[in-house]
Amino acid sequence: NYPVYGRIDGPVVIIGFGSIGRGTLPLIERHFEFDAEQMVVIDPDPGVHNFLAQRGIRHVQLALKPENYRRVLGEIFGDGPGFCVNLSVDTSSLDIMKFCRESNVLYIDTVVEPWAGYYFGTTDNAERTNYALRQKVRDEKAANPGGTTAVSCCGANPGMVSWFAKEALLTLSEDIGHKVEAPKNREGWATLMQSLGVKGVHIAERDTQARRQPRPRNVFVNTWSVEGFISEGFQPAELGWGTHETWFPENGHSHETGCRAGIWLERPGAITRVHTWCPTPGPQFGFLVTHNEAISISDYYTVGDPAAPAFRPTCHYAYHPCDDAVLSLHEMFGSGRQQTKHEILEADEIVEGIDELGVLLFGHEKNALWYGSRLSNDEAKHLAPYQNATGLQVTSAVLAGMVWALENPKAGIVETDEMDHARCLEVQRPYLGPVEAHYTDWTPLVDRWEHFPEDIDESDPWQFRNVLAS
Ligand code: NAD
Repeated sequence: NYPVYGRIDGPVVIIGFGSIGRGTLPLIERHFEFDAEQMVVIDPDPGVHNFLAQRGIRHVQLALKPENYRRVLGEIFGDGPGFCVNLSVDTSSLDIMKFCRESNVLYIDTVVEPWAGYYFGTTDNAERTNYALRQKVRDEKAANPGGTTAVSCCGANPGMVSWFAKEALLTLSEDIGHKVEAPKNREGWATLMQSLGVKGVHIAERDTQARRQPRPRNVFVNTWSVEGFISEGFQPAELGWGTHETWFPENGHSHETGCRAGIWLERPGAITRVHTWCPTPGPQFGFLVTHNEAISISDYYTVGDPAAPAFRPTCHYAYHPCDDAVLSLHEMFGSGRQQTKHEILEADEIVEGIDELGVLLFGHEKNALWYGSRLSNDEAKHLAPYQNATGLQVTSAVLAGMVWALENPKAGIVETDEMDHARCLEVQRPYLGPVEAHYTDWTPLVDRWEHFPEDIDESDPWQFRNVLAS
């Protein structure tokens, strides 16, 4: 008895059939009406063929590249309509999004992905930032406003966490006795965050999923794309830079063009640690891995002139991946080479654990509020096939984004901050396990090891200087 949210006319194309593609398929089948004969999966991996053939799904076995994507997609979609669900690595989100909009085809992805080679092909670190990747999509939106809807970065994070940020703001305003109606536009949301005294947001995640077998040496183990994680982990650490910050990191760089909301550090994100907090562990280290939402959230909640704002929150990812992934990173950075064997933990081999993913809104009168999903792998297995808890948080966001796009087919290029968060969470919530709000009196100045002097600011707990671990 699953709700069917609408009909998709024309082909439904999934690009990339890895952990997220495989998990998204059953949700599309469950929640949309469409012509099953027009479902196509594009993926160069021969290993996915049998799975698709057994389900009568057409498999186009090739890698999309700059020189073939227009022909391959053009042959499938013609002049539209249709829906392109881009869940691959190594394909340019911007190019494919532009093509789809020209062809009247709805589009969604979970990350602003570049063509193969981009992440490691240049030594210009500013070019390798998510700021640069995102800004190109924002420039395209500004140059060609409106038109066929293309949803950019609609996974768990980036994606769902932007909806959580809004829900957390409404929860906080109610809990401090100033209940408000949900604002109607960006300015309203930004002013609400400012008026609540929020200084910043961690995208605070703890993944405790584990299998029985210890991690074999020389294998990179993760709960989602290893390739995707290594790519983003090697990008420079990046964060949205808030107006309350009084200190600037020595290895930090700001940007002279674009939205101005972010800065980047001369150091890979996956070995840059930050102090953060999640409900299960309490205080913990997370990695300052660059993510689109760190920039988009800081940009969205900016009040005033972007070059000299009256208010902007600091925002960044603070990610504690599953323990096997932490060990994999340790091994990879220590040895200076990537493991050639990659494993993504399957739902059926995981014996314990949850993916706890939320937003930690800090600096306000109640100190800090974590709001998010605490989905266990056990529960995820009962909710939908072919995915662990991490996967389901992502694929259910893709589902919500697809529903929103079908209901708003001429909204142009949008990020999840710009969508109706209540509608999206209404669609997604049945797949998220417990969605909870937790207040904490923890700050980055609490529970530190006191035996060594640190470069911290004891007068102002929520300075990034205190969050960044030495
Ligand atoms: P995966 O590594 O399991 O699978 C990627 C798939 O893409 C593979 O099957 C691969 O064969 C295919 N592929 C590679 N090159 C291709 C090309 N040129 N054309 C077509 N297909 C190609 O990855 P995953 O875990 O399924 O993740 C998929 C994407 O989703 C990644 O970009 C990842 O960063 C992103 N993601 C986003 C979120 C989020 O919350 N926003 C979370 C997880 C993953």
